[in-house]
Amino acid sequence: MKCPACGTPDSKVIDSRPVEEGNSIRRRRECKACQKRFNTFEIIETVQIIVVKKNGTKELFDRTKLLSGLLKACQKRPVSAEEIVGEIENEIQNSLTTEITTTEIGELVMKHLKMKDEVAYVRFASVYREFKDIETFLAELNQLKQQD
Ligand SMILES: [Zn+2]
Repeated sequence: MKCPACGTPDSKVIDSRPVEEGNSIRRRRECKACQKRFNTFEIIETVQIIVVKKNGTKELFDRTKLLSGLLKACQKRPVSAEEIVGEIENEIQNSLTTEITTTEIGELVMKHLKMKDEVAYVRFASVYREFKDIETFLAELNQLKQQD
């Protein structure tokens, strides 16, 4: 994306947000040479994300799988599982990686849930981290309380 002021092809993305429901995105960019900021509208070419599982096998990222895992955690909570899945997809796409491990996906989910809703977060975390005992689970709860 060439800078409209000096023509330098290098710019960094400082903000991106999807345009309504479509597959286009509005990006705020900053020129690496002259620091001029400008907006671009870009059509997202959705890159296929490969998920690397713990046993090393690979499969295509499946948003419905992630969504179904999140729906349980978000049940009767004021947080939309659909929205969180969207945010996570965006974050993976923006990071420009094409491969992600299941652990990294789990961490992303935890990060986003933690910001949105603590109950949903703890629900998800309790399943995801497979707490070995109640101690670990309570330690996690206490940590959340201390952040209030
Ligand atoms: Zn420039």
